[in-house]
Amino acid sequence: MRAERPESWRVAVVGLGALGNELVRELGLLGVGEALLVDPDVVEEANLAKCALFRRRGACGRPKAEVLAEVGQEWFPRTRWLAVAAEVADVGWQKLAGRHALFAGVDRESARLEMARIATRLDVPLCDGGMDTAGAGGRVSWYPGREGACHGCRLTAARRREWLRTWSSAAHPCRVPEEPGGWTATPTLAAMTAALQVHFAAEWIRRGEREARSVEFRLDAPLRLEELRLPLNEACPFHEGGQWRLVPVEGPFRAVLREGEEACWEWAVCLRARCLECGGEWSPRQRAAKLRREGACPACGSRRLLELDTRCAVAYEEPLAGFQPPELGLPPDHLYSIRKGRKREEPA
Ligand SMILES: [Zn+2]
Ligand SMILES: [Zn+2]
Repeated sequence: MRAERPESWRVAVVGLGALGNELVRELGLLGVGEALLVDPDVVEEANLAKCALFRRRGACGRPKAEVLAEVGQEWFPRTRWLAVAAEVADVGWQKLAGRHALFAGVDRESARLEMARIATRLDVPLCDGGMDTAGAGGRVSWYPGREGACHGCRLTAARRREWLRTWSSAAHPCRVPEEPGGWTATPTLAAMTAALQVHFAAEWIRRGEREARSVEFRLDAPLRLEELRLPLNEACPFHEGGQWRLVPVEGPFRAVLREGEEACWEWAVCLRARCLECGGEWSPRQRAAKLRREGACPACGSRRLLELDTRCAVAYEEPLAGFQPPELGLPPDHLYSIRKGRKREEPA
């Protein structure tokens, strides 16, 4: 999407730690038209050492997204600041579709891959920032949307498969794949990385850059700053298009489906679970990844859970198609992929 004037840009910032703080400041100074701020966490005392914008009275204990939207509104009132205190996987896609760019300041591989999925599905550019605090370096990547490389293209096939399996896997005892700890930002590296992110993104948005690229810098010897082109990996499954259409679902699913079709979403939702401690069953209606991470039996509090019905699609013929998305624990303003027939399982 080409656009000359930052005042007309609508962007989102996902991840509001040290990098996200700096992104908010830079985007505010640039004068973008609208910025949606996404992060599920609240400000903690420990964040203040690295995040300048959280240093205001009463910020601790409040959602990061809300605090930064407030600061943004105060300091940069020409920009419209919107806050969503949620994980990006729980944000309805109507909020993200059509943006000039999504800025990522996330430190986890799983969040990077979720962002890649969202950006390729919605065909929205993604500007990702990452840091290597051990080597004092940083990287800014531009993923232009469905037609260019994404973060998934850079992973090995085995790694990609592992992540995709945990997204869609059904009925297994709760567990999350091992994820190596993310970076711990230093304020200077965060400031530099975010500044480069906004500097280059501004150029890439202006010229409608359609090729994936990344700019890497290192501050230890030998000092360097270089730009790399990122080729699209034919094995990456995120770039398929054509066999599905994206639609909002305002009433029951069945209203948007024809016979033989199904509505799909990206992250499996658990509709029925059993406690392995007390045997009780209930309907969590929660994203399975979240349930595996923090779910507990409502009767006895045990975290040993078995997912009995976990799914990421509803077919026209099923009784479930009579439900509306929020009744299944899905965001009301999401966009669903409508496609023919049963979605094939990822090969194990
Ligand atoms: Zn890809
Ligand atoms: Zn129980």
